[in-house]
Amino acid sequence: MDSVAFILDALQFSAEKHRGQKRKDGDTAYINHPIAVAHILKHIGGVVDPVVLCGAILHDTLEDTQTSQDELIERFGKEIADIVWEVSDDLNIKADKSRDAERKQLEIDHAQTLSHQAKLVKIADKIANLRDILNNPPADWPIERKLGYFDWAKQVIDGVRGTNSRLETEFDGLYSLRTTDHLL
Ligand code: ZN
Repeated sequence: MDSVAFILDALQFSAEKHRGQKRKDGDTAYINHPIAVAHILKHIGGVVDPVVLCGAILHDTLEDTQTSQDELIERFGKEIADIVWEVSDDLNIKADKSRDAERKQLEIDHAQTLSHQAKLVKIADKIANLRDILNNPPADWPIERKLGYFDWAKQVIDGVRGTNSRLETEFDGLYSLRTTDHLL
């Protein structure tokens, strides 16, 4: 399959899987998020590798939809499925809200060990999430939670620096808006 066909296939698959889901603002369709992550990779990071772009489009399907690793391998091949798997949280830990702090620490520790491709998706994902918190914030997040998210995201990104300077600069620019002025 050519790369455009591959990307369109990933978009269709991801849209189908995320059907009906909303982002945390309660209004935005969930699929806007993986599309934004792929868009950031290409338009800010200059990433043109279709494997990475497909990985971005599919990056939340294992974690947040009824999708198995085998299904991804069969549809998109092992390389893309592996990127999605690498950027997904451990589902057992995620299911248990009392282990939230552990999950967040694991993501910080784990980020440094990711493949180059998964690191790219990870940085673009955090950029998209900071943008959302600034522009379309989750309705029920108090300021402390927003500040905490910014700080945690920075710790994750600090572990993957040296991956793509344009993406890292974009992240740092958003992080510099971590002020009560911007987040209230
Ligand atoms: Zn995401």
